[in-house]
Amino acid sequence: NKETSSNFIKTIMEEDLRSGKRDAIVTRFPPEPNGYLHIGHAKSIFINFELADQFNGRTNLRFDDTNPLKEDQEFVDSIKEDVKWLGYDWEELHYASNYFEEMYLRAVLLIKKGLAYVEDLSIEEIREYRGTLTEPGKESPSRSRSVEENLDLFERMKNGEFGNGEKVLRAKIDMTSGNMNMRDPVLYRISHTTHHNTGDTWCIYPMYAFAHPLEDAIEGVTHSLCTTEFEEQRPLYNWVVENAEMDTQPQQIEFGRLNLTNTVMSKRKLKQLVEENVIDGWDDPRLPTISGLRRRGFTPESIRNFIRETGVSKGNGAVDKQMLDHFIREDLKLKAPRTMSVIRPLKVVITNYPEGESEMLGAEVNPENPEMGTRQIPFSREIYIEQEDFMEDPPKKYHRLYPGNEVRLKHAYFIKCEDFVKDENGNVVELHCTYDPETKSGSGFTGRKVKGTIHWVDANDSKPAQFRLYDSLILDAEDEEDVDDAQEKTFMDYINPNSLEVLDGFVESNMTGLKPNDKFQFFRHGYFNVDPKYTKGDDLVFNRIVSLKSSFKL
Ligand code: ATP
Ligand code: MG
Ligand code: MG
Repeated sequence: NKETSSNFIKTIMEEDLRSGKRDAIVTRFPPEPNGYLHIGHAKSIFINFELADQFNGRTNLRFDDTNPLKEDQEFVDSIKEDVKWLGYDWEELHYASNYFEEMYLRAVLLIKKGLAYVEDLSIEEIREYRGTLTEPGKESPSRSRSVEENLDLFERMKNGEFGNGEKVLRAKIDMTSGNMNMRDPVLYRISHTTHHNTGDTWCIYPMYAFAHPLEDAIEGVTHSLCTTEFEEQRPLYNWVVENAEMDTQPQQIEFGRLNLTNTVMSKRKLKQLVEENVIDGWDDPRLPTISGLRRRGFTPESIRNFIRETGVSKGNGAVDKQMLDHFIREDLKLKAPRTMSVIRPLKVVITNYPEGESEMLGAEVNPENPEMGTRQIPFSREIYIEQEDFMEDPPKKYHRLYPGNEVRLKHAYFIKCEDFVKDENGNVVELHCTYDPETKSGSGFTGRKVKGTIHWVDANDSKPAQFRLYDSLILDAEDEEDVDDAQEKTFMDYINPNSLEVLDGFVESNMTGLKPNDKFQFFRHGYFNVDPKYTKGDDLVFNRIVSLKSSFKL
């Protein structure tokens, strides 16, 4: 793996090793198994694994499964698959729920030290008592409970004597702190819910702000990398590690979230799209989920290169999706076989080509990478071209087929349009052309020039295929502003109704033995991926990854 360029986290790690503060770098990727991973998570994965790797350190995969309500085995499995697919191997696999006993004991320790108390106020009351940024909070009557009473009540919470929400455990810190997170935050709450790992053993569950620093410390994580929204929680993170008397002191460091334009990233929104069947599951090729990007045809290399390019800063700006597209084009340029496909077919009869005959034409698999060899393309009297490559009344500068015009068929011959056939609705359904055998591709013919080169497939010897073309799932922000009462709209109102177009056409007959996620460059159409879900045997379904052209510049 190529090194991440110098960045502020790397600098801290280097310094910690040099000064002897740390003798090894240990990081972790800590997803909550409540959804599929998206490209934002890929940034976190990249940073945690690549940085540790540069110092010969270790990275754990830890499921942060302390909330019993939203978690599921399906998500655990998909997360493991996605991390591996991105190219990373974790050192140890952990479940935060395996630390429940230890966390409980640490909470008891805080109570014994007079640093935590059982609260009778409801969550709403706790919020009211907490005050605001400009007003100090008020101390709750529960705050003055004795250690003995707190120990007794906490144990009874654990034993299931109280209902959901009846009591919580709070840290006793400072109700006047300028940092709201330090105003006696909740450490434990009651939830009579079966947990996917611990079953009904527990009915009290630790809050993220208490659990996360303990998890990191238990595993000996040295640098706990998270996104900037946790910056304000850092003092609490340190308070927990110190006062719970953990043996090791991880350092929390925040970096900027990665966001993409014209899509949704939050798990809540992704989940809503899946549950309301707006899309085709978590791996819909329009989604920025890792499984969606994989099904669309993005490669691990392209995603890693994209993330490396976006860098490890504190900024949270949205990155243009076109930058990701740039990296897949770069990755596939030399790897993907080139071939021809016709996605909106128009039949062409080559009237002077002998009936019943055919021939094989040789072509390079990838002119930019000659090592990929050659392929054979059948050619005969009937072919398909794109509908858009013929116009009855062309505008100026249209160099494709029109009555009387001659074009080059890629890898084949010049053909000239002599006539066309319309159906009863006035649509052109067939062209009659002639070809010139002298102009065969590769023959060195220089007699005359044509301005247009078009692609084609043989009509008698080709394979039917479905092509799925995608556009942004979410419309532009500009469109968003045009809508009245924008405040009352949700992201669901900005779903692009034309984000998927499904077309039936043909590919070269030499496309045999295709495997899910094989990738090709179809001449003029762009890069395509064999859809792993809908391709079955000879029923070929291709997802367009990206078109060929872009105005994007790095
Ligand atoms: P979401 O907000 O999409 O639900 P999350 O942050 O709740 O995501 P977690 O499963 O807790 O999801 O995330 C695991 C790790 O990935 C965390 O360390 C989190 O900070 C990081 N992460 C999540 N989203 C992004 C993002 N957009 N950019 C960078 N890192 C992210
Ligand atoms: Mg989270
Ligand atoms: Mg979240």
